[in-house]
Amino acid sequence: MGYDDQNIFAKILRGEIPCDKVFESEHALAFRDINPLAPVHVLVIPKGAYVSMDDFSANASDAEIADYIRALGTVARELDLQESGYRILANHGRDAHQEVPHLHIHLFGKRDMKGMLP
Ligand code: C5P
Repeated sequence: MGYDDQNIFAKILRGEIPCDKVFESEHALAFRDINPLAPVHVLVIPKGAYVSMDDFSANASDAEIADYIRALGTVARELDLQESGYRILANHGRDAHQEVPHLHIHLFGKRDMKGMLP
């Protein structure tokens, strides 16, 4: 599947539409989900044009992958989630109902997530 540069997260990355940013690094951006399922619901995305984890893991550089994974941990620490806990999740493709075709990892925190599988 090719990358659609008109997807909503591509527009956020280009600054064409706003987001509630919580963190930015060289290769990653994190912002609050507009339809939060938890008191903390942040989306962490790579700045590069990757559709999914499948695309990213196969095609991103080591520097992009390292920066992106570090960003996830940094966001969790900066939002003070390390003690209470948090969940990270990425949907890929049809069966997982991925809505936006730009890789995004959901980071949920500050609620009990027993039985929650978004
Ligand atoms: O994993 P999935 O593709 O289903 O999730 C997409 C997420 O992007 C949803 O949680 C939705 O609320 C969020 N979203 C957003 N801002 C937009 C469009 C979608 O935070 N402008």
